[in-house]
Amino acid sequence: MMTVDDLFVLLGGAGSRQYGGEAVSQLAHALQAATLAVEAGEPATVVIAALFHDVGHLVGEGDQGQADRGIDERHEEAGAEVLRPLFGDDVAETVRLHVAAKRWLCFAEGGYWDSLSRASKVSLGVQGGPFDAAQAAAFRDLPQADAAIRLRRYDDLAKVRGKGTPGLDEFRAWATRLRADA
Ligand code: FE
Repeated sequence: MMTVDDLFVLLGGAGSRQYGGEAVSQLAHALQAATLAVEAGEPATVVIAALFHDVGHLVGEGDQGQADRGIDERHEEAGAEVLRPLFGDDVAETVRLHVAAKRWLCFAEGGYWDSLSRASKVSLGVQGGPFDAAQAAAFRDLPQADAAIRLRRYDDLAKVRGKGTPGLDEFRAWATRLRADA
């Protein structure tokens, strides 16, 4: 099992690792997503979910452009597995559902698909595409669906090259507090 410190080391080391086909590094993407969550007044569970939502890309083999080769590495499952023992089910399920939230938004919200980055459109294809009505209804019934949809919106906006954010250390207190509560 990883520790909270391990997670910070892993993410801190991802500063030079490109985030899939996006214009920002994995670290910048994580910091932008978490900062948007803080600015929106989210609880610590969603802030920490935002910070670590893509940690599944950094464990194991990591993201080597699989989506472009038609492979779904299911990074949301890997991330949830790492986070669950540390931060509990709320954080883990919010992270696990952030891909489902994209599929739901494509079903439920006109114009959402158009707003996605090229890399997100490519990965949507290998992740199963937009939900149909039955899948959408089942997703909406899950307790963490709302939080996952909000996380998804921060995720989508967290791809701005050169955007200034607080540093990774600013989020240590959030993680330590949440770890103590979990
Ligand atoms: Fe992301």
